[in-house]
Amino acid sequence: MFFRQKNHHWLTFIFSILLTVLGLTATMNLPAQAQSTIKFDDFFLDKAMRLDFYMVGNAEEEEIIIQNIYQEDCWPESKVNLTNPFNYGHYFLKVYEVASNRLIYAKGFDCQYGEYKTTTPALNGVKKVFQRAVRIPWPKRPVKVVFEARDRQNLLRPLAVESIDPGDYHLLKETVKGGDYTFEVVKTGPPSERVDLVFLAEGYTAEDRDKFVADVKKFSDFLFEKEPYKSNQNKFNIYGVFRPSLERGMDEPRQKAYKNTVLKASFNAFDLDRYMLTEEGFALREMAAQVPYDAIVVLVNSKRYGGGGIYNDYCITTVDNQASLSTFLHEFGHSFAGLADEYYTSDVAYNEFYPVGVEPLEPNITALLDPEHIKWQDLLSPGITIPTDYGKEETEKLQAEMRANFQEMQKALEEAKKKNLKEAEIKKIQAQFQEKNKPIMAKIQAIREKYKHLEDKVGAFEGAGYASKGLYRPQMYCVMISSPKMEFCQVCQRAIQQMIDYYSK
Ligand SMILES: [Zn+2]
Repeated sequence: MFFRQKNHHWLTFIFSILLTVLGLTATMNLPAQAQSTIKFDDFFLDKAMRLDFYMVGNAEEEEIIIQNIYQEDCWPESKVNLTNPFNYGHYFLKVYEVASNRLIYAKGFDCQYGEYKTTTPALNGVKKVFQRAVRIPWPKRPVKVVFEARDRQNLLRPLAVESIDPGDYHLLKETVKGGDYTFEVVKTGPPSERVDLVFLAEGYTAEDRDKFVADVKKFSDFLFEKEPYKSNQNKFNIYGVFRPSLERGMDEPRQKAYKNTVLKASFNAFDLDRYMLTEEGFALREMAAQVPYDAIVVLVNSKRYGGGGIYNDYCITTVDNQASLSTFLHEFGHSFAGLADEYYTSDVAYNEFYPVGVEPLEPNITALLDPEHIKWQDLLSPGITIPTDYGKEETEKLQAEMRANFQEMQKALEEAKKKNLKEAEIKKIQAQFQEKNKPIMAKIQAIREKYKHLEDKVGAFEGAGYASKGLYRPQMYCVMISSPKMEFCQVCQRAIQQMIDYYSK
């Protein structure tokens, strides 16, 4: 996600109608078999089955409709970790072998539709359709694929079931080659034992090919400067896929600027100016499938600031803004490791994205419902108080004063303009307000000094997940909020490490 703020109310999801139609009950749970008992070769071929599906609905109803099923050349994800150990993502896909009714594969994911259903149009009943694709290893025998969606309490409820016979001639086994220029940047080992990261070109014209290759190098080099990627460089394979666009850049609807590009990336996703996504979920996967990949990064040939990232789907960023590299690091945190945004705005106490009283799924924010057992309990700094006071309220009060002063100054300047006051008079007004702000800034600085000793400590700092109250983050600074050194907090670092291990072991 990217800088989202919400001002609407959620409705309770009504799954019951759909469940009745599907003949499902809402209590289907994971069978108890341990993941270690599933041997890849017993159940799967070394190929991927890609399910391209539409997600249709509004805030109250949702439906999944499979469009096509494709075969891909290899299974690049782990052959050991088959039932996802993470509880991330608002959707889950579970694969049961029909003959034994055994769970043989599972993964959690998020999707654009999942965000759409929290927006005002969706709450007003407007239905929209989104493309999404999810891969599973190619099963040897018939399977039942169950899609599950979380309710407001984050409990998984069945949403759709699809029976798939791997011998069915409707399954498409065409070549994955799409005629694009593909290249390997780093190859450290076999795909199923490495994190395979693919960069896709968006908004690069045919003559920009060398620039794209250089950008991929620049972004992957930057990633490996940052922990925990730095110490795990040998666990990554890096690829690039170049497909030329007719025009440079991407759509900017608010600026009425539209470009013809291969993935139709666009700013103003969900009417948020700086949020960029692509709705071409199928084309995205077709493009990526030309190389082995676990994670997708879309590089957009533009100077504008912004991007987006969806867990277990893709992240997207422009390349030529001065903040592009840090945007990439942040958005990749969402898409690869399921991290939450740790930032918030001081005037939004609560938000509907994280319902009050429900523990968020992400590893790096908590509602602190059980302060004795925080999800990063073992990483807490010795002797730290929970929640951790870091002068937030005093600072925010002072910041509000400064904002009020600023607004007052704006008003005075507007008045001055109307009266056609001279430059010297205008400067005087500005200077007056600067004087007014000086003692406030000094106070803020003093608070910062007072709590400086907490800067490298792990605790529970209030303000996270877009909400000023009720949600807590592990450290004062992190890439997922803002970090002067562009470093992840210890909790995020561990979550990324776990994801690297998941794909590479
Ligand atoms: Zn963090």
